[in-house]
Parts: sequence; structure tokens; C-alpha cells
Amino acid sequence: MSRVVKVGNLFIGGGHPITIQSMTNTKTSDIAATVDQIKRLEEAGCEIVRVAVPDFESAKAIKKIKKGINIPLVADIHFDYRLAIESIKMGADKIRINPGNIGESWKVEELAKVAKDHRIPIRVGSNAGSLKKEFESKYDRATALAESALNEVRILEECGFSEIVVSVKSSDVLETIKANEYIAQKVSYPIHLGITEAGTYETSIVKSSIGIGYLLLRGIGDTIRVSTAGDPVKEVSIARKILISLHLRKGGQVIACPTCARSELDVEKVATQIEPFVEKTDLVVAVMGCVVNGIGEGKHADIGIAGTKNGAVLFKNGQIVKTLSAENIFTELLCVIKEEAEKRKCRVMLSE
Ligand code: SF4
Repeated sequence: MSRVVKVGNLFIGGGHPITIQSMTNTKTSDIAATVDQIKRLEEAGCEIVRVAVPDFESAKAIKKIKKGINIPLVADIHFDYRLAIESIKMGADKIRINPGNIGESWKVEELAKVAKDHRIPIRVGSNAGSLKKEFESKYDRATALAESALNEVRILEECGFSEIVVSVKSSDVLETIKANEYIAQKVSYPIHLGITEAGTYETSIVKSSIGIGYLLLRGIGDTIRVSTAGDPVKEVSIARKILISLHLRKGGQVIACPTCARSELDVEKVATQIEPFVEKTDLVVAVMGCVVNGIGEGKHADIGIAGTKNGAVLFKNGQIVKTLSAENIFTELLCVIKEEAEKRKCRVMLSE
């Protein structure tokens, strides 16, 4: 089992729940826009947020950003150790920086001391896009990624620093898996998982589900980030679905049949309409095209509907409890979902 690292009010590693991370794509120095995006990420289920800190203006913005948000904030810095120190002083809960990029060892030592004094962990790691030649020429790519990350770990360890999180990321799924397996055998620090530059929405879902999902099933990984081009809120939703699918966290989900010639219902439309509500509950809701197979196939859901000639039937635990007229399917189903959620004290917004 991995060691435990504290990030703000959360623990990473040591069997604690896998946390969902994301990263803002606003200018960090634009405090209002960054806080606004982080609030949307929080609402979607993001538990740790990373912001890029390319300059002192961004580092100084962290203090005000922190006042407007409720989740731990990670400052992402590339080379300048002074930006990392300033970010810590402004209240960052974790730093992402590679000590190998900082330069002279006294700079690394100074950063490690400030981080230690403030009890702030540091994530180190490697990324296929910026892998140094010295590693690339010596190993296959996955091992090079892992050895490069381990080299960063060693630099911090030499400074007496051990509040470390490690990551090795590639846009290639198999390379990422191999590199993380290698890392997990060598060190016990918590591992941050992700397929980097995973691509556009659909591609990123496929790559992240396979890469992150496989590693989590093998017991590797303590925190995850799905990387998707565009609005980061989408990443959080995918990450949640990965964890729910692996039974690593509770959460509502819609199961829906693919439909066939027997279908009497616009399954896609109803499933898409109710999904945002169901995701705020712990319920499993089935949307099935017909009663022929729908009720049997959806019997493990908490609530289900199956299409009929005149609308749909609503069933619970495989038993029909109600008939829904065609024009009221969505509103009636939503009503039942809210009633059930309220009974179970789920966090569904009853006013929505
Ligand atoms: S539930 Fe009915 S409509 Fe849906 S795939 Fe099965 S048989 Fe076809």
C-alpha cells in the first residue's frame, strides 16, 4: 500500500478514497474567471484543482483564489523555484514541479525546506512530451519515463523531503501502464494517474478509461486526472464515471439499452435528459426500450422504465409499479427519482 500524503484537508494514498483532480484553463492571474471555473469543477465533483503558475502575478493570485474555493489547490510550476515558494506562501496546498528543472541544488534545498515548513507535498514526475534525452537514449520509452520520474524523487529525497506524489504520463496508454507498473514496484509514494494529452472528448474517454481503469484495478494509483481538450468540467464527469464503474465510489448512474426493432421509447433522449439528475444521487436508473426484455434486464436498477405502445411502465426491483403516459415520461420519471433520492437522503437538488 502506498504512503499517505496530506493535501489541504484531503489524504492521498494509503487506501484513502481515490481523489479526482482537474486543472483550470483560465489565466490564473484572472482571479474571477479562475474562481468561477473552479466552482464549476467543484460542483461537478472535482476534489483537487491544479492551476498553472507561469509568473509572479499568478502566484500572488493564489491567495485570493483560495478564498473563493473549497477544494485544495495545486500550483503547477515549470522551472522557477521562486514561483513555487511564492505559491506556498500564498496558500497553495501542493506543488507540482520537477526539481531536476530547477537548476542548482541549493535552490532545490530551499524549496524543499519551505515546503517542509509549510507541510506542503510536492508532485514530481515525467511526461513523454518533455522526456530528457539522457533517459530516452538509455531505456525503452516506458522505462525511460519511469526512471526519469524516479530521478526527480531521488533529488527530493536527498534534501530530506518525503512528502512526495509521483506521476508518469504519456499519451500512449500502454506506455503509461508499463511506466506506472514500474514506478509502483520501486517506490511507495502515492501515484497520480493520467493519460496525458489524451485528446478530444471521445478519444480521451476511451484512453483514460482503459489506462486509468486498468491501473486502478491492479491497485496502482491514488489520485486521477482525465485529460480532455476543452472545458475541464467534462474531465471530472469522466473521472467520476470511471471510479463509479470500478465500484471505487458510490454514485448515481443511468443504464440504458441500445434499442432494437422492439423499442417503443426514445431511449437516448430520456436517458440523456435524466442523467444530470441521476448523477446527483446514489441511484441506478434503467431506461429500456421495451417490456419484452427491458424489465428483466433492468431489474437490478433501483428504478427503471420500459417503453410500451402508449408510453412506458415504471418498475422497481423488476416489478411494475406504475404506467407513464407518453407525454409525461420525463417529468413523471424525474418525480419518482427525486422522491426516491429524498427517501435515501441523496444530494439531488429537489428544486431543479
Ligand atoms: S430492452 Fe427491448 S428494445 Fe432494448 S435492446 Fe432489449 S429487446 Fe431491444
